[in-house]
Amino acid sequence: MSRETEFDRWEERLRKSAVTHPRIFPSAADKSSIPFVDYSSMKLKPGRRKKPRWLEKEGLCFVGCWEILAWRRYSGIATTWEEEDYAFEHSQEFINDVKALGCNAVVLPYDCSHGEEFNEEQVQLTKRFIELLHKNGLKAGTYFRPDIIWMETLSKKELDELDGCFQVDYNGLLIQPFGSAARNICYHHEGALNRFRRHVSRAITDLKTDILHLDGMIIGGHEGDGCRCAKCRDDFRAFLVGRYGHDRKLAESRFGHPFLEKMEVPDRSAPFDSGASRPHWCEWIAFRCLWTSRIMSEVALLAKELNPEVMIEINNALPAVRENAALLTGQDVIGTGFYTDASWSEDAYGPRLHENGLMIQRIRQFKLCRAAGTFGLTYMHEKDERLLRQNLAHTAAFNMGNIGCIGFPPHMNFSNRYNVHFETKCRFMRWLNDNREYFRGTVSDAGIAVWRARENMAISGKLAYAAAMRMEQLLIETCRGFDIVFEEDVKVLEKYDLVIVPNMECMSLRQIEGLLKYVEKGGSILVGQDSGQYDLWHRRRIEPCWSVLFGGKSARNVSADAVAEGIAGVFVSAGTRGASDRITRVTYGKGRAVYMPQVVDPATQPSLMKADGSMDCGLDYTNWVVPEKAKEIGRAIDWLLFGKQAFTVNAKRGMLTEFLVQDNKKRRIVHLVNLGHKPQERCTLDIRIPGIDSIDVISPPTDMPAKWRTRKKGQETQVFLDRIDTYAVVLIEQKL
Ligand SMILES: [Zn+2]
Repeated sequence: MSRETEFDRWEERLRKSAVTHPRIFPSAADKSSIPFVDYSSMKLKPGRRKKPRWLEKEGLCFVGCWEILAWRRYSGIATTWEEEDYAFEHSQEFINDVKALGCNAVVLPYDCSHGEEFNEEQVQLTKRFIELLHKNGLKAGTYFRPDIIWMETLSKKELDELDGCFQVDYNGLLIQPFGSAARNICYHHEGALNRFRRHVSRAITDLKTDILHLDGMIIGGHEGDGCRCAKCRDDFRAFLVGRYGHDRKLAESRFGHPFLEKMEVPDRSAPFDSGASRPHWCEWIAFRCLWTSRIMSEVALLAKELNPEVMIEINNALPAVRENAALLTGQDVIGTGFYTDASWSEDAYGPRLHENGLMIQRIRQFKLCRAAGTFGLTYMHEKDERLLRQNLAHTAAFNMGNIGCIGFPPHMNFSNRYNVHFETKCRFMRWLNDNREYFRGTVSDAGIAVWRARENMAISGKLAYAAAMRMEQLLIETCRGFDIVFEEDVKVLEKYDLVIVPNMECMSLRQIEGLLKYVEKGGSILVGQDSGQYDLWHRRRIEPCWSVLFGGKSARNVSADAVAEGIAGVFVSAGTRGASDRITRVTYGKGRAVYMPQVVDPATQPSLMKADGSMDCGLDYTNWVVPEKAKEIGRAIDWLLFGKQAFTVNAKRGMLTEFLVQDNKKRRIVHLVNLGHKPQERCTLDIRIPGIDSIDVISPPTDMPAKWRTRKKGQETQVFLDRIDTYAVVLIEQKL
């Protein structure tokens, strides 16, 4: 028998006191409460920008043809018919096709990364074509590449203005991911911002653009190779002084020393796997997010002043589901929504039920955008007609009717040409535009929230993302409506019946206590894995934070057991938890709570890092699957909801569902998208809402028509969908 040490006795005492007095003592982080992003310094305050009215009314579907001819030649994407291609893209014939497709916009070449004098002829061509588009009742977008400069084409005057604002890495070397003649520019330099402002102004006032299409809208580059120039260093130190300078004791408690003015920037070993735990990394992420929103607020203010009806869309990795976009590119997911209307998702996770059973889709990407107050922009590049119809349907259903880029001109040398299955695209879009009223002004009707709180997730490791993805996949595969929530404040969650915290390792005491109160008042929570085991300085809490609900059962720490940070920050998996881990169900106050010790097995997770320290952005299906104990979790979710859900869908695997409301709940809309290889029969929708006035089902003419009938069963109404080809929209009108 081993001897009990003082350590054992001390720990036991602490554990007992934590259970009998389940109060958590506030940590230094809990007491400091510094906002993750402070918007008080922004040029345009949150809430001061409205979405363009035309966008709300018409949605967005466009053809993209943005690269200038010179760049097509330079970058090697030109075809042998380059001049003929270009002439066609500026012709009335092209516009006729765009109109037939039911698009409302074309995105055209402009680009601030080329020399101004050199590019002028091109700009004049774009200007004339915008006039022609407007005459045809279409909107025009102008393409920008704000993050790079094509050095060889810039005049001396332009280079002088930029004043050496090129991104350099930690070792002082130029950052040039686009080749030797392209340089990444750093927006901490005034010259870079002045140039950007001038181009935005010109596009709006001279060219009369309707859309700013900001590709590569990334301030400071990709971590692993992010900017560490002298200006970035100075601004980082000023940022730290702003946050902690008023209280050097607090600074010492945070960093170990109070010398904020001398603080080093982090080197290139970004903690993609483990999440940021070192204070300078946590602060660096917050610093980058602040600067992204700061620059975006400048652009948004300028656009608002010049023409408030100009739409802003960006390509910045916001809807990345696996990656920590705050760490990777400094994305402030909430700020992005204040200052923009749409975000690109250029990943290859197109909707498809794969032969091996994987159900891939962009539902999460679209929901991430919606959580930010934007919508997603993707491509329609399917060569197979059924897959194309499924992509069109799933984008319409989950992306508020915004199809995004329906294709490129036939000769732009990209695979997704608009003339592929042209007739299908035309007929689908005509139907969508005819039924636009059902896609406009909708809000989510979901009763379940998956909490991906912005600050918490920004410093979390890959297991937090993996668990969120698997929980979301379970909700997707079981036809449950859900929202993703970014806000840090628990109050935002109060409207939901169930809040799922999949594995949010870092949580503030305020958030934990807020959730406890929410349960006490009748809410339900599902807490997974290591949620709340760390505070917002990523320091491990000694007290088991959920013991008031689950006693000692929630004191597990899966990632602390499994993660070891080596010299290179490489993730080491130290094995998996036993299969005996059981979920715990409790009632508390008027509500219910479930603890799930393991949502994702750390041993299943590959490293996100490549050998050179950058992030591996390759296709990765690892977490497009349900959690290992999906059935058990599914039953727990039903128990947690205790019959509160208004809708239940019974369908074969492959059916996707989205639940929306409109017009102050007068109309409820259920979108059903079938990813299956053939039409589904015998799908049912059970409705438990009072005062149903009428039910209708619509489907696009590109499908075999939906067959359906309804039946009243006690308080319930059932809709039997005897055939759904790829898409059916159930419209339920209520008497209020
Ligand atoms: Zn810099």
